[in-house]
Amino acid sequence: MSMLETTNLHKRFGELQAVDDVNLSIDREGIHSIIGPNGAGKSTLFHLLTGYLNPTGGEIRYKDEDIAGLPPRKIVQKGISRSFQIADLFEGLTVKENLQIATQALDEKRNSLWVDSESLTTTLEKTEQLLEDIELVDLADVRADALSHGDQRKLEIGLALAVEPDLILLDEPTAGMGKQESVQMVRLIRRLVDERDIKLILIEHDIGIVMRISDRISVLNRGQIIAEGSPEEIQQNERVQEAYIGT
Ligand code: ADP
Ligand code: MG
Repeated sequence: MSMLETTNLHKRFGELQAVDDVNLSIDREGIHSIIGPNGAGKSTLFHLLTGYLNPTGGEIRYKDEDIAGLPPRKIVQKGISRSFQIADLFEGLTVKENLQIATQALDEKRNSLWVDSESLTTTLEKTEQLLEDIELVDLADVRADALSHGDQRKLEIGLALAVEPDLILLDEPTAGMGKQESVQMVRLIRRLVDERDIKLILIEHDIGIVMRISDRISVLNRGQIIAEGSPEEIQQNERVQEAYIGT
C-alpha cells in the first residue's frame, strides 16, 4: 500500500479536463516532483490533494483512507500539509509569532489546552526548532511583511512544517527567486525532508533543479501523467521532450 494513491482522479472545469484520469502513487521516495508545461494541471492536482477543490471523479487514498472531497482542515489533520500563501501569513506579526500560532494550531488539533504551561513550553521549543530548520533564527523578531521575498517563502514552509505533517506539498517554492537563492532554497528543502523524514510532493518549473533534487518524477501534460520514473529515466523520455517542445 502506498502512502498516497489516486485512482482515475479527474477534475473538469466546464469542457476542460484539467486533471484527466490521474493515477499517482506516492511511496518510499522522499521527494516526488510533478513537472509539466504551463496549464498542465499541476496546481489543480495539488488543490485536489489538499481539499481546496473537489474532484469530479476518482479516488484519493491516504494511508488507506479515502480523503477525496474532505475540507482542507481535515486533510491537514490527517497529516498532509501544503505551503501557505503569503496571504495566509499574519503580516503584522513577527516570524516567531507566526510560527507559534501555527504550532498552537497543531496542539488544538490534538485537543490539548495550549495555555497550560507544559504545552506552552513545548510550543516555544518547537518554534525555536522551526526557526533553525528554516534558517530564520536571525530574523525571528522581524515582521513577516518586512521579510524579503525569499525569506517569506521560507516562513511559508515553516508554517507548513509546524503542523508536523507526514507529507508536504510545495507548489513552486522557488518562484520569483534568482538562481542562487533558488539553489539555497532547494538545499533547505532537501535537508528538511531528510532530517524530518517526511515525504514531499514538489511542483517546480526549473528542470535543472528538479533533476538534481528529485527521487522520482511524474510528468503531467494536458491533465494526464505521460511519464514517470527516476530523473535519469525522465531525462531520456521522448514523450517528455515532445511535451516540452510542443508548448
Ligand atoms: P499548472 O499549474 O500546471 O500550470 P493549472 O492546474 O493551474 O496548471 O491549470 C490547468 C488548467 O485548468 C489550465 O487550463 C487552467 O486555465 C485551468 N484552470 C485552473 N483553475 C481553474 C478554475 N478555477 N476554473 C477554470 N479553469 C481553471
Ligand atoms: Mg501551477
